[in-house]
Amino acid sequence: MGKGTHDEARGDVGMDILVVGGGGREHAICRSLSQSQRAGKIYCAPGNAGIANVAECVDIGVFDFEALTAFALEKKVGLVVVGPDDPLAAGIVDAFEEKNIPVFGPRRNAAEIEGSKAFMKDLLKKYAIPTAAYETFDDYETALAYLRSQQAPIVVKTDGLAAGKGVTVAQTIEEAEKALHDAMVGGSFGAAGSKVVIEEFMAGEEMSILAFVDGETVRAMPAAQDHKPVFDGDKGPNTGGMGTYSPLPHIDPAIIERSIEEIIKPTAKALVSEGRPFTGVLFAGLMIEADGTPRTVEFNARFGDPETQVVLPRLKSDLLDIFLAAVNGTLADIEIQWSEDAAVCVVLASEGYPASYPKGRVITGIEAAEAGGGLVFHAGTARNESGELVTAGGRVLGVVGLGTGIAEAREAAYAATERVAFDGAHKRSDIAAKALTPRA
Ligand code: AMP
Repeated sequence: MGKGTHDEARGDVGMDILVVGGGGREHAICRSLSQSQRAGKIYCAPGNAGIANVAECVDIGVFDFEALTAFALEKKVGLVVVGPDDPLAAGIVDAFEEKNIPVFGPRRNAAEIEGSKAFMKDLLKKYAIPTAAYETFDDYETALAYLRSQQAPIVVKTDGLAAGKGVTVAQTIEEAEKALHDAMVGGSFGAAGSKVVIEEFMAGEEMSILAFVDGETVRAMPAAQDHKPVFDGDKGPNTGGMGTYSPLPHIDPAIIERSIEEIIKPTAKALVSEGRPFTGVLFAGLMIEADGTPRTVEFNARFGDPETQVVLPRLKSDLLDIFLAAVNGTLADIEIQWSEDAAVCVVLASEGYPASYPKGRVITGIEAAEAGGGLVFHAGTARNESGELVTAGGRVLGVVGLGTGIAEAREAAYAATERVAFDGAHKRSDIAAKALTPRA
């Protein structure tokens, strides 16, 4: 990626864009936008040290809607793209729309599909879209009595956003009781835990399908798979994601097609019927059961992180054209092409993540990794006072390898990670390993 392909001179003719966010996902979005023939200047608020190579970082927080809208008006940006979930749930899209600024992302009432698990589950139930059986509670004693009438394994989820930590897949009823107590009595997740969903456990293999959506039009991206637990063999606590790959050669394309037809399209349609039309990226987390039936685990209202890092590098079409078509309601009319290449992303995380971790450790070797053909997306990086690149988050970098198949892409990704170094760097060594053996 080097210094990126963004050409300053195009700023005069192309459309200026503001991307909101500052992680690996936004780095991948900014990189793809910087390759657009129609993009002018790209701003990213707040961005990070890697995004600064392909966009101009602006020091405004993702919840400062007033400053963000003022900035977009002052710079006359033609489009705003929102990366993270929390500002979407808080109504950032509504804030831009109030000022007539074109924005790619769902309004607050559509983003609720991610912001409230109870809303999502009720919607799926009402429209008979496949998902696990569940009950919703806002009273602890009633929830506890219900839980005690059930069998493990069982899943306890906080209703609201809890930075990916509000879900407990409990192997015993005692473990589930503890999770319930922590959320509803202990207040571990604040207001997000005052309401909980208790859900049937689904066994199977997970996959993610992201789709560009405008109203009822669904244009699915290639499927991807994440690795949530911090250690090899899916051991240890869950993280934001330790690595991804796309496509999924070991999964029958018919299952992917069924997921789009039976889950994602009906959900987009249901949101329209409810008067909450969705514009943006709808992200379905799916469980493929042993007989090949897909069921919904979750919906997110935005690009996945780190799924985006393996999906967007495979996009051959112009990302800006797709965003604009979605905003203008013409997504059904455009062509979207994907490369046959495979992509694998290996996350380099700080020592101790997902618990507490140090910051400020110097990172070396990124140029060497990129010179060798790797794509390095910055998640948690910054510059220190001496201008050195340092760690600034739990997940620090997403290192992507591309190749003609998963094996080649995986080799490229791991080779690139060998060139990057910072003290205490942790990565999983088994990202995409599952894709190398056919599904039993
Ligand atoms: P969520 O935030 O709802 O996606 O849940 C986080 C993770 O918990 C998922 O990626 C699954 O691995 C797991 N999970 C959530 N719900 C279930 C379920 N009903 N059955 C099995 N695993 C689940």
